[in-house]
Amino acid sequence: MPPNRYLIAAGPTREPIDPVRYIGNRSSGRLGIALADAAARRGHATTLLLGPSGVFPSDPSVLTERFERAEELERLIRDRLHDRDIFIMAAAVADYRPRTRQADKIRREGPSLTIELEQVPDILAGLADVRRPHQLIVGFALEPRSKLLESAQAKLERKQVDMIVANPLETMDATTIEALLIRHDAPPESVGSTHAPLDKQVFASMLIDRCDALLDARADSRSASP
Ligand code: C5P
Repeated sequence: MPPNRYLIAAGPTREPIDPVRYIGNRSSGRLGIALADAAARRGHATTLLLGPSGVFPSDPSVLTERFERAEELERLIRDRLHDRDIFIMAAAVADYRPRTRQADKIRREGPSLTIELEQVPDILAGLADVRRPHQLIVGFALEPRSKLLESAQAKLERKQVDMIVANPLETMDATTIEALLIRHDAPPESVGSTHAPLDKQVFASMLIDRCDALLDARADSRSASP
């Protein structure tokens, strides 16, 4: 199997409130980093876009570029996507960010403080108009268990991606994962369970194997069509 070119985004975003404060989230980036290591170990050219995380890839061939804000991540993705075969968007992007960043540190004055937030554009959904037909794009969905399947299926359509990896909320900041893989062309596939969650490293290897196989199958069907 020839090497593929992977782009993987991982970790949280930090949206500044003032020079010393930000809105962040509890993502560790562990799964995205494990995916980058698993891809690199298979000999794939792998670029990891990594948010503010204390965890790093262990494979020396992973090219790591850092971001903090969603806007920086979006710019990196749009610059790097064009020559990639597979993009896995495992970053936990803020849904809302402060409308303005205060130039000076906010002082403790008055009994309450209101910060106005604005919606962060959906980076993944915005790629629909720039992605190339051969590219495989995988997104994630972190949802309460009761809404997992329904929400992930809606995201598969709305974001126009090839696969959504749906996880219950407990997956965030954990070392294990249970997931539902949702695709257009196959029934939902459950990986790991509440009783037997998978180690993120094991899951990462499985997902990279799955992505390689899907890309291969796509190439085969292109070469078979007249
Ligand atoms: O937050 P949501 O559940 O919609 O995230 C689903 C997918 O969309 C994830 O892969 C996430 O990285 C991506 N996303 C994005 N831009 C956002 C929010 C989420 O690309 N502003």
